[in-house]
Amino acid sequence: MQSSEVNGKDFGRAMCIITGASRGLGRTISKDMSLRMKPGSVLVLVARSGDELQAVKLELEAAREGVQVRTVQADLSLMDGVKSVITTCREAALKDMEHLILINNAASLGDVSRFAKSFTDMSEVNAYLSFNVSSALCLTSSVLQAVPQCHGQRRTVVNISSLCALEPFPSWVLYCTGKAARDMMFSVIAKEEPNLRILNYAPGPLDTAMFAEAKSKTSDPGVKKAFSDMFTKGQVLTCEASCAKLMKVLLQDEYTSGAHLDFFDL
Ligand code: NDP
Repeated sequence: MQSSEVNGKDFGRAMCIITGASRGLGRTISKDMSLRMKPGSVLVLVARSGDELQAVKLELEAAREGVQVRTVQADLSLMDGVKSVITTCREAALKDMEHLILINNAASLGDVSRFAKSFTDMSEVNAYLSFNVSSALCLTSSVLQAVPQCHGQRRTVVNISSLCALEPFPSWVLYCTGKAARDMMFSVIAKEEPNLRILNYAPGPLDTAMFAEAKSKTSDPGVKKAFSDMFTKGQVLTCEASCAKLMKVLLQDEYTSGAHLDFFDL
């Protein structure tokens, strides 16, 4: 975030909800967001692992005074998980909040060790889509309803997307399907709600647990080799580099609502 175009800009007195904040990209976004919010702001961090969330909270509170950090230990594949995030959002909502930001980052890769023709169990597919698609829609709609919109308040919703939303990867049927569905879902919301700012951001290949899983478990030999080669050639990005571009785009606020923007196009 060195660019002079965004130097000095911030997200205002904001409430920002980040899913999958316990590690990887979500953890980095949490850190960068906390530095770009005005004192009096609140961050709501969501994941299943309470210990990891607590560690992020302590780290952020040490680095940034005046920003409250709330954690929600929740499994977003379940409606109860979504509900507990909403309960915390209601409690934490600020009076005269300038900006409401929701980052739908949490996701899973699904079983990439098999090809599409092996997925015969509907409950397995439904469980994947429940977390990766349904919960993102229900969380977004519930947050927008639960948090009262005061006059002049900006509202931004980010969907962490992927190249897989646009391109089919053999042996990644669940992941590609989920990412494509999420992009369309958020593009529809952008059409319906012209006052919202919606961004589908594809962060590029990131050095995270998900990348390691993709590299070791992918069944398709071509895709598996591409991941190994990216790793050995040093082409995998740090979460910090990708997050810096996301922050720049959000702070400049010039994207078309509902657009799919990729790290490599920016
Ligand atoms: P990680 O697997 O490293 O982190 C995933 C996060 O989601 C963790 O915080 C995890 O926390 C949380 N999470 C997983 N399952 C659940 C659940 N059921 N309920 C609540 N939270 C959950 O992933 P990345 O950081 O790599 O990925 C972040 C985003 O970037 C994802 O949307 C991913 O699809 C996307 N992306 C990643 C790429 C990559 O190369 N890594 C490339 C392109 C896109 P916990 O386990 O504690 O619940």
